[in-house]
Amino acid sequence: MSQKVRVRFAPSPTGPLHIGGVRTALFNYLFAKKHGGDFVLRIEDTDQNRYVEGAEDYIIKSLDWCGMPFDEGPGKNEKFGPYRQSERKHLYRQYADDLIASGNAYYAFDTAEQLDAERKGHEAEGKTFIYNWHNREKGRLVNSLTLSPEETKAKIEAGDDYVIRFKSPQDETLHLKDIIRGNIKIDTNILDDKVLFKSDGMPTYHLANIVDDHLMEITHVIRGEEWLPSLALHQLLYNAFGWKAPEFAHLPLILKPTGKGKLSKRDGDKMGFPVFPLEYNAADGSVSRGYKEDGYFPEAVVNFLAFLGWNPGTEQEIFSLEQLISDFDLEKVHKAGARFDPDKTKWFNHHY
Ligand code: GLU
Repeated sequence: MSQKVRVRFAPSPTGPLHIGGVRTALFNYLFAKKHGGDFVLRIEDTDQNRYVEGAEDYIIKSLDWCGMPFDEGPGKNEKFGPYRQSERKHLYRQYADDLIASGNAYYAFDTAEQLDAERKGHEAEGKTFIYNWHNREKGRLVNSLTLSPEETKAKIEAGDDYVIRFKSPQDETLHLKDIIRGNIKIDTNILDDKVLFKSDGMPTYHLANIVDDHLMEITHVIRGEEWLPSLALHQLLYNAFGWKAPEFAHLPLILKPTGKGKLSKRDGDKMGFPVFPLEYNAADGSVSRGYKEDGYFPEAVVNFLAFLGWNPGTEQEIFSLEQLISDFDLEKVHKAGARFDPDKTKWFNHHY
């Protein structure tokens, strides 16, 4: 790798970190340290409805507790401007406008009622409504592709609400690459024209995430598998901007102990095991060392998390953080979901 490795952990501050989030942070941290790179923390707080007070603090303290501090992040070494997206707000609109100017995005004025009627109309015909190439230029939808430039301008000047949508290409086959999953082929006709910029003046996750990964010179995006369906849109956005996309690695889901379905907070409660064994005390902002009386040891928790979806290909089970850094390899991350084995959590009270 000639370029300096830069990865990011980009949580949304919507509550305490789920165990899956901590594992994502850990794999990013290990990859960065293994390659002498930077581990960036970016707070993705553009969805104001889901914002939870104190969550950012909890996230930062959790990373510290695990022994994986970030190199750049909110309030620390902010080389590329603020690392909290709400403070970078002014940036994103310009990029959305650039996409409109290059014909890759358009204004859409449809109200919630109009979209609902469209959805119902399609359902009545036994079809699913998708806002995409198939429907977007039909007269019933109100956007800058169905309206004349003058009509569009007049609506904007009149202060009508609008969103900016990405114009997904029609009839193309997209060849995507993921370090863990290999090659993926997508027919662009199945994609909907995702909203990039909302009527509240905020970018959506997709736009802000791509713009920031580009501006912050991120080389590898390592994140949970739930984002795999967004990979096509993200690659298309990079293409539309004319930017080189980073490499992508989507980590396998963490499954319930039965192996069926995604591990939830409720499963943790049932097992008497918290989804992440740290407690956040909102009154004084402290993170307590352990959930149970004895407390868990960070080294043991990190060791356990590392094995959720990865293994070194040897019999060795106990690793220090330094050993994990030297042995970690994204190519050894599994494709299949990682079953959460509660027996293994017995290690947590073991200090070594
Ligand atoms: N903000 C997203 C999340 O909460 C980040 C996804 C990504 O890493 O691209 O998971």
